Amino acid sequence: MTKTIASEDLQFNILRHLKKSLGKDTANATLYDWRTSLSLALRDLVVDPWFQSTRKTYEAAGKRVYYLSMEFLIGRLLEDVAVNLGAESASRAALESLGLDYDEVVHDEPDAALGNGGLGRLAACFLDSLSTLGIPAYGYGIRYEHGLFEQHFENGRQIEVAEGWLSQRHTWEFERPEVNYPVGFGGHVNGTWEPAETVIANAYDTPILGWKARWANTLRLWSAKPTVLFDLGSFNRGDLVGAVVPEALARAISRVLYPDDTTEAGKELRLKQEYFFTSASLQDIVRRFKSEGFDIETLPDHVAIQLNDTHPAIAGPELVRLLVDENGVEMKTAIDIAKACLAYTNHTLLPEALERWDLGLFARTLPRHLHIIEIIEEEHLAATGSHVRIIEDHSVKMGELAFVMAHRVNGVSALHSELVKKTVFHDLNQTYPDRIINQTNGVTPRRWLYSCNPPLRSLISETIGEGWVDDLEQLSRLEPHCADSGFLDAFMAAKRANKERLACWFSDKTDLQIDPSAMFDVQIKRIHEYKRQFMNILETIAHWNEIRDNPNGEWTPRLKIFGGKAAPGYVVAKEIIHLINDVAKVINADPVTQDRLKVVYPPNYNVSMAEILIPAADLSEQISTAGKEASGTGNMKFALNGALTIGTLDGANVEIRERVGAENFFLFGLTAEEVVERRNQHDYSRAAIAASPRLTRVLNQIADGLFSPGDPGRYHGLVRLLHEHDYFLVTCDFDDYFDTQRQVDSAFVDHARWARMAALNTARSGWFSSDRTIRGYAEDIWNSSSLLDRS
Ligand SMILES: *Cc1c(COP(=O)(O)O)cnc(C)c1O
Repeated sequence: MTKTIASEDLQFNILRHLKKSLGKDTANATLYDWRTSLSLALRDLVVDPWFQSTRKTYEAAGKRVYYLSMEFLIGRLLEDVAVNLGAESASRAALESLGLDYDEVVHDEPDAALGNGGLGRLAACFLDSLSTLGIPAYGYGIRYEHGLFEQHFENGRQIEVAEGWLSQRHTWEFERPEVNYPVGFGGHVNGTWEPAETVIANAYDTPILGWKARWANTLRLWSAKPTVLFDLGSFNRGDLVGAVVPEALARAISRVLYPDDTTEAGKELRLKQEYFFTSASLQDIVRRFKSEGFDIETLPDHVAIQLNDTHPAIAGPELVRLLVDENGVEMKTAIDIAKACLAYTNHTLLPEALERWDLGLFARTLPRHLHIIEIIEEEHLAATGSHVRIIEDHSVKMGELAFVMAHRVNGVSALHSELVKKTVFHDLNQTYPDRIINQTNGVTPRRWLYSCNPPLRSLISETIGEGWVDDLEQLSRLEPHCADSGFLDAFMAAKRANKERLACWFSDKTDLQIDPSAMFDVQIKRIHEYKRQFMNILETIAHWNEIRDNPNGEWTPRLKIFGGKAAPGYVVAKEIIHLINDVAKVINADPVTQDRLKVVYPPNYNVSMAEILIPAADLSEQISTAGKEASGTGNMKFALNGALTIGTLDGANVEIRERVGAENFFLFGLTAEEVVERRNQHDYSRAAIAASPRLTRVLNQIADGLFSPGDPGRYHGLVRLLHEHDYFLVTCDFDDYFDTQRQVDSAFVDHARWARMAALNTARSGWFSSDRTIRGYAEDIWNSSSLLDRS
């Protein structure tokens, strides 16, 4: 289906866009101009497959999947498009003949960072897989003007700076000025809802191309606009500022992404954002459905709506409202139709992350919806005899609302789904025993292996052909080669090339000299107490102590790499960042440990940084307190790229270990059950500290100001926290973690053994493709199918 793309044609089109779309000639073109011209030239090639997919979808008159997500953490798109078009080498050649370097051009693109972390990145991987599988689908979200903040370090402290990805032209989107919907807030209900305030949701479409350009779906993001652009009355009265107020208020709704990934903010603007994009998306879905002339009661045969966490949970009452108030459907029927369309994915068990809205705020903002929720609740209680309420303690509980209004609720790893049944939705699970199912997360192999790891991609394709890219379980065909020393050497040569690429990247950014033969030990993810970066840096200090105690010992050289942002209001997480940077300063300056231990923390971890760090990793740190990480997807990216995991039995680590084999995974720590038991023991953290001279020494060093000499009291709070409220059991898992790290040390110096373990991780990670996850959703939740003809 894909035509080969000639570099001459591409070059012609790059030059054409440079001149006609950008109004530049080659003499004064900047890197930005070249990148934009290449993007436009490639975008031209996306349009036909995109139109064809739309046409086939209308012809099939089947089911469409709608993925509603507050976040899409996409990253760069140019390389994705080039790869899926099969236009990578043509692009390289075309640019080269213009005197330009492809990698430099591709890396000029700013990340689309419309998400915080795993949840948003999952949505982006799902879009990729939906297109690769040819399942008709739309992603719906918010076109934030400012994505996730940029992280800078100032004397080791995190500073947040507003991000501005739209300050440059965003080449991939098409504005749809004609696609807009009113979204109301406030007011009152007199038979019908009369909102006090209305904003306009305006659509921007980005085509999402699948592998080999066989299919393209749409990501539709909503931007908030005022109904009246400008208050001429105020202006005429001389009130210049007042004249722009309505516009500013409306635009505020899509202005900025909330930077909290695990704490629920409970803020009015956040509620408005949630309702804004959910309402616009549902209006669009119902409009499209009706345009095809189907009977409204058949909506569930044509529409599957997936709620990515509770952020769009208002979809339940909103769909009921659209059916009842605007389409004359009876209330009871409307509720049944909505349930048959909706499904909900739970992403967290952390109590502080479960969304609840203050009843007063909710009533003021969405009065009609509150009324509908009361009816939904009444029906749920009456029909089932359940005592679980949606409205309780003066708040609206979005998890319960999403659960009651969904025909399927899924967790994101086997362990997580079991815990969902036992904890947050224990009672609802008894009432609706078949509703909760599991769909273990996955990652797209196009971005997370093919694009980001060219050396390994080539080796795999030379060994087993290219079929693995959209059929990742074919990686198992590498297994027989994992006994062949020639293959293992080539595997480790690919790893080495990625490590050298990373060492160059570091030397551009810091004055640190990095030895590519050292073990690259990587923990990159949001900074959170449950993810235990704190335990990692404590272990780093303990290891440093041990090297200094015995400087002539045989120590395995390690580079400790940290990356990740903390929510701006999360004080403890920010102190952990500060500590890591302070420790790095002291350790990196120590002549005794110079060539054995270094610590780096490049600022502003994002998708693009992950793409350079993960292929270069030897060791993947997945060390969360058991029972707290719902799934993780970083863990999958690492295993796929041949890094070994040191980890707890948490989230998808459990399934990774089952698949790659216990002998190829460094396990430590308490299990989820043991964690719960341990918390009931009196003074468990003081006991653990007292039992560990190593940990005691480290904590004393920190408390004595060894790493903050100008400010010795800086970390007293953190150290006290471990003694008094070590909720995440850093102290209890510390010794086991330390000992397991020493096993990692000895494994790493046994090159042949390590190579085999690393290669087996890649060979056995095929199941963690998001293609497999999406097939699971399509079968078990959406009842939707692929329209791809694979001829
Ligand atoms: C994959 C990814 C995540 C999720 O990482 P976890 O280790 O699963 O928390 C977060 N941020 C970025 C940029 C990612 O690429």
